[in-house]
Order: sequence, then structure tokens, then C-alpha cells
Amino acid sequence: MMGGSDRRRLFLLLAAVGLVMAIALTYALAARKARSDIDRQAEQQLQIIALDLQSMLEKFETLPFALSVHPDLAAALRAPDQPALAGNVNRTLKTVQQQARVAAIYLMDRQGLTIAASNWDEPQNYIGRNFGFRPYFRDALNGSAGRFYGIGSTTAEPGYFIAQPVFAPGQREGGTPLGVLAVKISLNEFERTWSTSDEPIVLVDQHGVVFLGNRPAWQYRSLAPVDSATRARMAATLQYVGKIVEPIASLPTAARRGYDQPVARAVGRLGWQILLFPAQARIARIALLWSGAVALVLLSGMLLVWARHQRRRRLEERQAARTALQQAADDLDRQITLRTGELTQANQDLGDKYARLEHAEQLLRSTQNELVQAGKLAMLGQMAAGVTHELNQPLAAIRAFAENAVTYLARGQADQASANLLHISDASARMGIIIGQLKGFARKSQGKVAVVDLTRSIHASALLLQADFDRHGVSLQIDLDAALQITGDAVRTEQVLINLLRNALDAVEDTPQRQIWLRLERDGDQALVRIRDSGPGIAGEVAAQLFEPFFTTKPSGKGLGLGLAISSSIVQAMRGQLSASNHADGGAEFQLRLPLAKESNER
Ligand code: ADP
Repeated sequence: MMGGSDRRRLFLLLAAVGLVMAIALTYALAARKARSDIDRQAEQQLQIIALDLQSMLEKFETLPFALSVHPDLAAALRAPDQPALAGNVNRTLKTVQQQARVAAIYLMDRQGLTIAASNWDEPQNYIGRNFGFRPYFRDALNGSAGRFYGIGSTTAEPGYFIAQPVFAPGQREGGTPLGVLAVKISLNEFERTWSTSDEPIVLVDQHGVVFLGNRPAWQYRSLAPVDSATRARMAATLQYVGKIVEPIASLPTAARRGYDQPVARAVGRLGWQILLFPAQARIARIALLWSGAVALVLLSGMLLVWARHQRRRRLEERQAARTALQQAADDLDRQITLRTGELTQANQDLGDKYARLEHAEQLLRSTQNELVQAGKLAMLGQMAAGVTHELNQPLAAIRAFAENAVTYLARGQADQASANLLHISDASARMGIIIGQLKGFARKSQGKVAVVDLTRSIHASALLLQADFDRHGVSLQIDLDAALQITGDAVRTEQVLINLLRNALDAVEDTPQRQIWLRLERDGDQALVRIRDSGPGIAGEVAAQLFEPFFTTKPSGKGLGLGLAISSSIVQAMRGQLSASNHADGGAEFQLRLPLAKESNER
């Protein structure tokens, strides 16, 4: 298996190899094309040069022939002892030379001695000079046109020589020449036009010797070594006077390697060749340009492909991320639905539980109500004796007052009688109060929360127990620190107070000092009722069970053990606290705390 990065590396390698190959191929093709283009250009250039040269040489081809038939020439050759004739020829030749713009025109006798020349009046003239050694002379003397290129032995100026035999008038056919007429043409002008070309352009003779060109260092040197026979002939004809023909050392290296061959073209009648060496650098430059362009295009293409590939990958990645996100969101949705279901179920369960709890609480409350009522009735039973005594006393008094009043009336003592009646009224009022209190206590509470005047509740409770206290010789000392109002249930508050006072009464009943203290005070935002007695106090083992239902230390028939349990639950329902402790001076003290009513609280 191939990893992603391995594949990418392979792809990069292949791309690099492909790029290099493409560049190399482009280079080779471009070089070949450039080479052929340059060769063709060179060919064209050479064609122009060759035509130019050819036409120039041809232009003068007929000049020596035309001049050779001039009668003055034969005359001068025939009479070498008459200088006047030669002088005529001199002038004629000079005129023609100047008109035709050739380097020189001169006439030689059969030995090659110059007898007349266009430059006769110049310091370096040909008069008296012998050119018998020159091949053109010999060719012309043999009856045909002579042609030669060489350096002038007199002037040291190179030139092209054309020679024609001079015959006596009418003797041309089959006769022997009287002499030879030669024209020298300078090619310097021609050579100068090549100097602007960067590439080597040279004219070589049939032996490969450079005699004209735009590379001065190559002048009179050969392209290839020249054999000794040719060398000897060159020396004999003074063709390149004083020049040692050596091979060119600095031919372009590429040319020597044989791969940068010069472009060649034959020109003239002497086996010459004109050569042009195309600049290798130009080929390289063109090839480089092409391969650079191709490399640029390919690289841009590759970059484009790469960029598109990257873009596609990024898109794919983004798509994948989006899919993953969607999936995660779906998962979350599913989870939420699941959890919501569970939660709904749990909520419903909780609701059910709450309903059951509510039902249980209702049951409890009704049970508690019944219990409270039962406790109350039990207490009424306990109080019955006291209450009966309390009612009997005024009743007995009323009867006595009434009987006395009858007696007073019979005696006519109306004032006494009315005083008695007033006493009766008082006593019945007292009875009414006691009965009213009893009625109120026995009443079933509505369970309504209201503002309760605690002072009044304390007085009502004390009044209900007054008879019992009196009967047992117990003194109740009430100490109201403040008039306080609480929020709660008046009937139940009295029930608690009566229960506590009743317990205190029970506790002090058999003790020598029968004293009970009730004190009302304010404690923060609560009303605090302390009920203290001079009894034996609460025994240690009793304290823990004090508020438990049906816990009692009293003999059966006297206590049910429900009083404190009910009182405690009443107080808790009113958001208060009920606690018990032993006082430092002996006896028990019960503390009842109830929340103050808003008004009372603000006072
Ligand atoms: P009961 O009065 O019917 O016994 P309670 O619940 O009112 O029921 O009281 C429970 C017990 O608490 C009593 O039996 C008694 O032992 C104890 N007790 C209550 N008040 C006092 C008090 N002031 N002094 C000593 N013991 C008390």
C-alpha cells in the first residue's frame, strides 16, 4: 500500500523528470531549428555576398580583353626602344584605370617586364618590374585568360589579377602574343562591408587559405594544414608574399569539433569558397529562450493543476467536516430526544410521587387535626373538674344572693335587694366569660392563619385554668414585657399555652412552693413565651422523649402523653419552636417562640 505522501512524492518526482525531459527536448529541437534557421540565413547572406563578388569580378572580366586590342599596346610592345609609344600607353591605361576604378592596369612584354602601367607616375609604379613568375602572366602568354589572387609584390596590396594576351593586329588567331595586359582589382572595399557582421565571414582560396575576411587574425592562414608542394608553389608565385601560411589556431572550437560547420558557397573562377561561421551562442540563446518559455508554460500548467487539486482537496475536507458536524448535530439531537424522554418520564414520576406525597400530607394533616381535637377534648376532660368548680361557685353565690334578695324584698329593703341583684349580675357575667372561653377552646380550628394578639391568648388561657390553680393553691405570675402580635391560629396558640400551663400545674402540685411564672418578651423577630415552674424539673432520661407522642410519666387516667407532641406539631406548623430546659434555680422552663406579625415586627 502506498501512503498519500508517498504518492504525492512520486507524482512530484515524475513531474520533475517530465519537466526536465520536456525542457531538454525543447532545447534540442529549438537548437536544431535555430541552427537550420541560422544556416538558411547564412546561406542567403552568402548568396548575396557571392553574387556581389561574382558580379564585381565579372564586371572586370572583359576589361583586359577590350584593352588588349588597342593598337597602341601592340605598337609599344613592338618598339620598346621608342619611349613615346610607351608613354601613350601609360596615359591611356591611367585614364581607363581611373574610369573603371580598378587598382592598376599594366602591360608586360613576353618576358614579363612591365613596359607601361597606369601608375607610371606614382612613386611605387610597376614600370621595369618583371611579373613573369606570376601564374596569370604565364596563362595569358599561353593564349588564354589568366586569373590570380595575391599580394602585390610592389605595393604589398592584395588584389585580383585578370590578364589577357596582346596580339599584333590581325594576328589573334594562331599567332603568338606580343605581351600580356593585366588588370588588378582591389577587394578591400568589398571586404569592408563584412566588418559589421558579428559572425566570421571569410573568403578562402582553393587550398583553404583565408585571404579576405572580417577576422584580421585569420588573414593568410589556412583552415587545414597545407601540404608542402602547395606551399612551394605559393612561394614561387609570391602569392602571399612574406606570409607563412599556418593553420588557424583560433577557429571556433565548435567548428573544430565538426558540429558547428561553417556554411560555405563556391564563388569565382579560382575555386574560392566563401565561408560563414554561425555564432553558436545565438543558437544556444534561442534554444534557451524556447526551453525557458516551455518551462514557464509547463510550470504554470503544473501550478494550475496543483492549485486546482489543492482546491478540490480543501472542498472535500470542508465537505467531510460539514458531514461530521451534521452527524454530531444529529447525534446530539438523538441524545437530547432520549434524555428529554427520560426527563419527561422522571418528571412524570416525580409528579406522581408529589401527588402521592400531597395525598399523604393531606391525610397527615387531617389526622393531625383529629389528633389535636382529641388532645383538646382530653384536656377539656381534665379541666372539667376545675371548670365545674369555677361555675359552681358563682352559681352558689347567685342562689344565695337571690334568696337573700327575696328576703330583702319581703322586708321592704329595696336597696339591699338591688345590691344583691347587682352581685348576681356580676356572677353570671363571670360565668358567661368562662363558658365563652370553654366554647372557644372546644371549637374546631379553621386552620386559618391570622394576626393573633398573644397577650389576649395568654389571659384567656390563664382564665380557663384559674379554678384549677386556685384549687391547688398554685400562684401564677404573669409578666408581660410587651404587647406582641404573632401570625398564627388563635385557638391553637391557646391550646399550646393551656397545655404548657397545665403541665406546670401538674409539676408543682405536690411540691411545697407552688409557683408558676409566665413571661412574654420580644426576641428578634419572634415572640418568646417562657413558662417556668417550681417543680422538680425534667429528669435526664425523660428529656430525650419529652416530645414523643404517648410518652408520659403520669399515672394512667391522668396523662395520655400527647400534650407536648401535639403542642410541638402545632408550633412547627406556625413556623415557631418549642423547647424545654431546666432552670438554674430549679424547676422546668418551656420556651415557646412564634414569629411576630408584620405590623408588630415593624413596630
Ligand atoms: P402528659 O401530660 O399527658 O403526661 P405531656 O406530653 O404533656 O403528656 O407530657 C409528657 C411528660 O413530660 C409528662 O408526663 C412529664 O413527665 C413531663 N413534663 C411535662 N411538663 C413538665 C414540667 N413542667 N415539669 C416536669 N415534667 C414535665
